[in-house]
Amino acid sequence: MSDSVFIGVGSNLNHPVQQVLDAIELISGLSELNIKNESSLYQTEPMGPQDQPSYINAAIEVNTSLKPIELLHALQTIETQQGRTREGERWGARTLDLDILLFAEHVSKDPLLTLPHPGLSLRSFVLYPLYEIDKQLNIPGLGPIKQLIEQLGEPCPAMISSKNLEKRSPVC
Ligand code: ATP
Ligand code: MG
Ligand code: MG
Repeated sequence: MSDSVFIGVGSNLNHPVQQVLDAIELISGLSELNIKNESSLYQTEPMGPQDQPSYINAAIEVNTSLKPIELLHALQTIETQQGRTREGERWGARTLDLDILLFAEHVSKDPLLTLPHPGLSLRSFVLYPLYEIDKQLNIPGLGPIKQLIEQLGEPCPAMISSKNLEKRSPVC
């Protein structure tokens, strides 16, 4: 269980808070994987098409001995279990999106699995939950998380349920 991996969780359909909580539960049940940290839940504005509900987003940190592609397939199975379909427009509404944000020090430009995730530095709904769970995080090829947040210059999304914040310094 050596590699430290960060996964982004998002939903804006069919009870998004429950979708996110259910997904984290299913991820925790995967073999060869332990959940190490969970962020709070954030309510965020949609990216891309604007005529869709707001999103619930979170990030989790896991330790796993799965290979990156094995983890991607396991996460896609969970997306399908929770009713994710891929018809419709890019970045349209979905019951569940599970993205591998970073996988230890892996760097890959493969479109099937790009690491770190290609949208990471442009998305406040990814950067703030990551920063909440690891303020010292250094993103391979991109730099310290704090610097990426400053460069993006976007406000922190609304936190709708806090997690372990008494043990952490505030993020927003
Ligand atoms: P985005 O990736 O911009 O957040 P999306 O999450 O809506 O958009 P999906 O439809 O979930 O996109 O995934 C499209 C493809 O992206 C997947 O089939 C997968 O192979 C590929 N992909 C590439 N890199 C990653 C990654 N780091 N995590 C998850 N999927 C990835
Ligand atoms: Mg995504
Ligand atoms: Mg995705």
